[in-house]
Amino acid sequence: MQLPEALPKKEYILVVDDTPHNLHLLITMFTRRGYEVIGVSDSLAAVSTVKTEMPDLVLLDINMPNMNGFQVCEQLKSIDVICNIPVIFISARDEVLDKVQAFTVGGVDYITKPFQIAEVLVRVENQLTLRRLQRQLQEQNERLKKEISSRIIAENLLQEANEKLGRLVNLDGLTQLANRRCLDVYLDQEWQRLARERLPLSLIMCDIDFFKNYNDNYGHVAGDDCLRKVSLLIKQSVHRPADLAARYGGEEFVLVLPNTDIEGAMAIAQIIRQGLQELAIPHEASGVSHFVTLSMGVTCLVPTNDSDPSVLLTSADFALYRAKELGRNQTFQIG
Ligand code: GH3
Ligand code: MG
Ligand code: MG
Repeated sequence: MQLPEALPKKEYILVVDDTPHNLHLLITMFTRRGYEVIGVSDSLAAVSTVKTEMPDLVLLDINMPNMNGFQVCEQLKSIDVICNIPVIFISARDEVLDKVQAFTVGGVDYITKPFQIAEVLVRVENQLTLRRLQRQLQEQNERLKKEISSRIIAENLLQEANEKLGRLVNLDGLTQLANRRCLDVYLDQEWQRLARERLPLSLIMCDIDFFKNYNDNYGHVAGDDCLRKVSLLIKQSVHRPADLAARYGGEEFVLVLPNTDIEGAMAIAQIIRQGLQELAIPHEASGVSHFVTLSMGVTCLVPTNDSDPSVLLTSADFALYRAKELGRNQTFQIG
């Protein structure tokens, strides 16, 4: 019989056999075929040799003194780093039970002695090919896993960056309220929606009284701190998902209250006034109180398609102007 074509092989085989003649024969045969080979005749040394040499395949005799091949194989399969190295049994035992046990303890093939060289080579080559493919698959798997995890990291970073960008674009840095740009976009959107639904849209415009005096008296840092406190109060005074609190300008704020009538808007204004009273931020330089106060303009209308939100803003601005004119620290309503 013609031997299969020899391939360029660098694979490393460990032969374990206590019969010197068999050991020699197998080593010679594999060496001629281009494999790297190491032989061990002592079953006790077999496990430690596998651990140090890490061969690609083990050809294992069964009948040996001290420890038989089944026991050696069981030990090999119980050690994590070497348990995947294929073990082929090669034995004079030809009983079905032996073969069954060989596979039970983790062997991948079974060759009976006296062996045919061609058969041994084909069976060994088969197992080595399987192992190569298995390794390639494992490597591919590892690469894919790494790729997936780096993609997940990149996606998370991108999402974070997008969220940050969204915040920067829409939020006022000092107060963390919606900024003017966000207010304009939102007001347009709600204007159109409520025009379609024929529902009211209310707006509260607030302005801190004598705030220039506050800055002059307490300094800009305290002024900023006061703006943050008032902003938080305004934000916390509304609870509907559609309500929006925005910083309109320096010490001016706007609350957008969709689907809210004038009574509802006045109630919110009252809540803000009450909350500010409870905060009791000292303002000795105010012309109307010893504490920080707000003037508010409240307005409400049902949007129409032939007008735009500037009508509402102008009206709220005028109401605020009236509140200031009438003495500050009060609310004036239109609508
Ligand atoms: P009025 O009662 O008529 O509203 O008087 P006012 O002093 O509050 O109004 P005015 O428009 O004369 O001054 C507003 C002041 O708000 C001017 C400025 O010092 C202050 N201001 C505006 N933006 C900021 C800010 O971001 N931080 C601080 N600390 N102060 C600000
Ligand atoms: Mg002011
Ligand atoms: Mg102002």
